[in-house]
Amino acid sequence: MRIPLDRQSTLPLYRQIETALRQGILSGGLSPDTRLPATRQLARDLGVNRITVETAYAELEADGLIASRVGSGSYVLPACSPPPRPPDSPACPPWPAWQQAVHARSELAGPPLPAPAPAPQTISFAGGTGDSRLFPADDFRKVMQAVMRRDGAAALEYGDPRGYAPLRGTIARVLASQGLQAHPDNILITAGSQAALALVAQLLLKPGDGILVESPTYSGALDLFRALRLRVVGIPIDERGMQVEALESLLARQQPGLIYTIPNFHNPTGTCLSSQRRRQLMAVADRYGVPILEDDFVGDLRYEGRAQPALKALDPGGRVIYVSTFSKMLMPGLRVGFLAVEGPVYAGLAGLKRASDLATSNLIQRALEAYVTVGRYQAHLRRSCQIYHKRRDAMLRAIRRHLPAGVRCDPPQGGLFVWLRLPASLSAGQLLPLAAEEGVTFDPGGRFFPDGAAGECAASPWGDCLRLNFAVQTPEAIDEGIRRLGQALRRLAART
Ligand code: PMP
Repeated sequence: MRIPLDRQSTLPLYRQIETALRQGILSGGLSPDTRLPATRQLARDLGVNRITVETAYAELEADGLIASRVGSGSYVLPACSPPPRPPDSPACPPWPAWQQAVHARSELAGPPLPAPAPAPQTISFAGGTGDSRLFPADDFRKVMQAVMRRDGAAALEYGDPRGYAPLRGTIARVLASQGLQAHPDNILITAGSQAALALVAQLLLKPGDGILVESPTYSGALDLFRALRLRVVGIPIDERGMQVEALESLLARQQPGLIYTIPNFHNPTGTCLSSQRRRQLMAVADRYGVPILEDDFVGDLRYEGRAQPALKALDPGGRVIYVSTFSKMLMPGLRVGFLAVEGPVYAGLAGLKRASDLATSNLIQRALEAYVTVGRYQAHLRRSCQIYHKRRDAMLRAIRRHLPAGVRCDPPQGGLFVWLRLPASLSAGQLLPLAAEEGVTFDPGGRFFPDGAAGECAASPWGDCLRLNFAVQTPEAIDEGIRRLGQALRRLAART
């Protein structure tokens, strides 16, 4: 333990030690049950007499901050450390001016912290990932061990900032099997696709520039674009995806520097961009010289219908930056995503990535490459598709069975989400607490809209909307959860 001591100070050394430890305990840095160093050891480390340290510990013990256990040492007592200081606590001296300036910038206020876990009996349709109970944790552990045996220390070096070359090759082959030709040297591996979105937005745009997004769209992208102080412009979406017909006039009026789109199983609405609109979008963006950022976050989770070509597959070269991830089709904690693009922008993105984080985890990339190469990834994907397909069907059945007739949804052909539109008089924000009382929860629609309409789906003729993740619950839990949601809706309707 390092405690800076001022030997010229009039404050005795034991007080200096006591004060440093007290601050550590009260700030939470030394958490309850932390064992303090033995007095003899700390005295040696600090170059002081052992009695000095013993006196400091005795003061802390007298104040009820630590306790000594016979034969075992001194420990921090529970309930000593208060929660982190609230931003404007009157009891504390004010933050320095630069901290206050950060606090005042609303775009940096960021999204709310993760919602507290729902009560154990609550059926949750919230969140944007697959079912963690299906994660192939055991298989992945074995692959990690095999990679460590095979590669040893090489797996623990930084590695190529563009990503582990064999994994880039494997990704290129997977993309080719989906009709998307990308050379491994045009693939950049990132810490999840969120990092890829951030790199692209940072490289191509500066604060105040416009970015065109579907309205609604992925809330994490909205948080990112707002944090970068971009001007977010929404374009409405219907059951055939982005209303590309409105694109031309928006491009002319708003002159955005980038179009961000989720053409497959859109988050949050679950819709797919029609084939005709894909071609229209490419043509209009090309005419106006605006790059497209294509986010294909769950493209492989298709349960029915024919796959449309990726926008990237329609790109003659360098128009579309394609982004995808292993988070939804495999596991989000891997933090492996990637982008594919040709031209000078690739070098710009690779340079910015290197400057930002040096490299994505080498060990995880090697393990992922081994996992994909031996065919386990494809097997896992097939199994996930079968299971999620059944869950989607269960949710559509339960909606028909338990929800009032005025509630509308377009059945998604894949992905993770069903987007519900409530009758005009009902609000998802008001529904949420009633649903919690019934034991079910979901994501209200307001957070997915670029205009930030809190809880209201401003552009929707149906009133308010909400997102249900069907992938995270079993068919039985889905039926029960939607029954509870129906109950909550009827209570809300009776009130309004
Ligand atoms: N795009 C979309 C549409 C998403 O829903 C998410 C995660 N919820 C991401 C990108 C980012 O995911 P990750 O960083 O885990 O790849």
